[in-house]
Amino acid sequence: MLDIKITKNPVPKAKPADESKLGFGKIFSDHMFLMDYTDGRGWHDPRIVPYAPIPMDPATVVFHYAQELFEGMKAYRSVDNVIQLFRPECNAQRMQDSSDRMCIPQVPVEDFVQAVKTLVELEKDWVPHSDGTSLYIRPFVFATDVGLGVHASKHYTFCVICAPSGAYYAEGIDPVRIYVEDEYIRAAPGLTGFTKCGGNYAASIKAGEEAERKGFAQVLWLDGVEKKYVEEVGSMNILFKIDGKIYTAACTGTVLPGVTRRSCIELLRDWGYEVIEGPLAIADVMKAGREGKLEEVFGTGTAAVVSPVKELDWKEDKVFINDGKIGPVTQKLYDTMTGMQWGKIPDTKGWIVPVCKG
Ligand SMILES: *Cc1c(COP(=O)(O)O)cnc(C)c1O
Repeated sequence: MLDIKITKNPVPKAKPADESKLGFGKIFSDHMFLMDYTDGRGWHDPRIVPYAPIPMDPATVVFHYAQELFEGMKAYRSVDNVIQLFRPECNAQRMQDSSDRMCIPQVPVEDFVQAVKTLVELEKDWVPHSDGTSLYIRPFVFATDVGLGVHASKHYTFCVICAPSGAYYAEGIDPVRIYVEDEYIRAAPGLTGFTKCGGNYAASIKAGEEAERKGFAQVLWLDGVEKKYVEEVGSMNILFKIDGKIYTAACTGTVLPGVTRRSCIELLRDWGYEVIEGPLAIADVMKAGREGKLEEVFGTGTAAVVSPVKELDWKEDKVFINDGKIGPVTQKLYDTMTGMQWGKIPDTKGWIVPVCKG
C-alpha cells in the first residue's frame, strides 16, 4: 500500500456549468497524483497535489528522446450514483508490459490502481452527470534525468491527471469513413507498436492529418513490412465481421493490446461467435466487401467504446459497409459495454471496480 500524502487545492476551480460543451481532454480537475523514481531507491513520495504545471529543466530526457508511456481510462458515474472504473488493473498491467520496452521502471499494478482510485475519489465531484459523459483519466510516466546523453534515465515521474469529458456520441453513433494508409506505417516487428508511448503518436500524426484533409475520420494501418495485413485504426483496434465470423489482428508486438478489444472479444466468444486473432489481408477485406460478405467493421477503444465503419478506401478501391448504418453486433457490444460501465445492466464479468459513492 502506498502512503499517499494529500495536499488539497486551497482554491478549487469552478466545475464546468454546461456538460454538453465538455469535449475531450480540454479541462482538468483540481488535483493530480505524482510519484518519483530514483535509481537505487525505487518509487517514492506518492502524493496528490493541486493540479499545476511541472517545472522541468530544458535538458530533461523526455523532451529530447521521448522516454515515456501513457495510459487512458475512465471513471463513470453509474445510474445508482456510484463512481466506478472499468478493468483498471488491465491498464496497470499494460503499462508494466510496455515499461520494459522503454527501459522505464515498472509501477506495481496495485500501486497504479490505488493511485487512480485515490485521485478519483478525491475528484468525484468532477465526474460529470449527463448521459455518456465520464472523467477521463490519464496516467503517464516520463524520464526526468537532465542531460543530453542517450541512455536510460535514472529518474522518473509517474503522474495521473483527470479531465471531465463529454459524451463521445453526443449526436448519436455515426459510422465513419476510414482511409487505408498505403504509404506511412505505424509499427513494425521489434519496434514499439504494442506500447502506449507518445512517440508512436508523434509518428502517426502526419498520416492522420492527410486522411482528415481528404475527408476521412481515421487511417487504417497496415503491417509495417508488407503493407498487406490490417493492424489497427488511429487510436483504436479494429474488428471485421466477415460471413458470420469476427477477425482482428493478433497482439503480437505491432498492435496495441486494447482493453476494449479484449473485452469485446470475450463478450463475442460468450455469445458464441468465432473470433479469429491473426493475419487478415486488406485485399481479402475488400474482396469480402465486393462479395457482400463484409457485414460489420468497427474500431474499439476506451474513448468511443465502439466506432462503426461505413467505408474503407484502399488505393483506388472502395467498399461500403452495412448501408452506412451501425451493425447489430456492433450495437450489441456498445450496449453491453456501456451498460456495464454506467451500471445500467449487471456486471456479469467482474469488470467494474467501484471507487466510492458519487
Ligand atoms: C489506446 C489505444 C487503443 C485502444 O486501447 P483501449 O485500452 O481499448 O483504450 C488502440 N490502439 C492504440 C494505438 C491505442 O493507443
